[in-house]
Amino acid sequence: MMEAEKKNTEDTPNSGLRIDIVSCVPRLLDSFFDHSILKRAKDAGHAEVVIHDLRDYSIQKQKQIDDYAFGGGAGMVLGIETIARCIRNLQSIRVYDDIIYMTPDGERFQQKMANRLSMSKNLLILCGHYKGIDERVREHFITKEISIGDYVLSGGELPAAVVSDALIRLIPGVLNDETSALTDSFQDNLLAPPVYTRPADFEGWKVPDVLLSGHEKKINDWRMEQSIKRTQERRPDLLH
Ligand code: SAH
Repeated sequence: MMEAEKKNTEDTPNSGLRIDIVSCVPRLLDSFFDHSILKRAKDAGHAEVVIHDLRDYSIQKQKQIDDYAFGGGAGMVLGIETIARCIRNLQSIRVYDDIIYMTPDGERFQQKMANRLSMSKNLLILCGHYKGIDERVREHFITKEISIGDYVLSGGELPAAVVSDALIRLIPGVLNDETSALTDSFQDNLLAPPVYTRPADFEGWKVPDVLLSGHEKKINDWRMEQSIKRTQERRPDLLH
């Protein structure tokens, strides 16, 4: 077995979500998953993210993974041989619910997609770089293509981190208060209401009285009103 495989054969401790991310700049993702909520999710066995260096799967002596585009033009393209070897290796170890490619021309990432994907067991996310990846990888290996928005980044690492973060915080038990993810923006197509903490009065800037009333129904009604108002003002498109 190759070194790269041996390191990554261990399973996620319990029934949580495992995400394998394949990148040619794995160090970009080094510490992202090692803090705060994502670290707690990992420590509690709810989720595990394993980063793979695409270069480990190159068959070339110099570990080359990219090449010039056929037909000419600026920009290098990640080649199919290394990527195929990497994906096949990972597939021989576990079955993936989806093999995802992060790309600006993919389906736009939204909360509903996050909700759906968070119920997966194993996901593989491929990060592109340079001009992108050989189209044949997309045709023959990729089952889902996701864009995080209409702008172009230099690599798929940040997009992969964005998607992983959005999925992991939805797994039951990851957030301290289990209902918390349900009251976030975009669930029910509404933006979240404003939130406040102590002090109740900062230099004369006061927290709305209703939040200090202890009256649960009134507080919930106020939050719903605020949610609707905010959505009407900022994102009326969500209400249609
Ligand atoms: N030539 C490509 C862009 C390449 S950008 C095009 O015009 O579509 C290099 C890599 O960054 C891509 O392969 C992709 O993995 C990632 N990337 C850049 N912007 C992204 C976005 N908005 N969403 C998801 N991935 C993105």
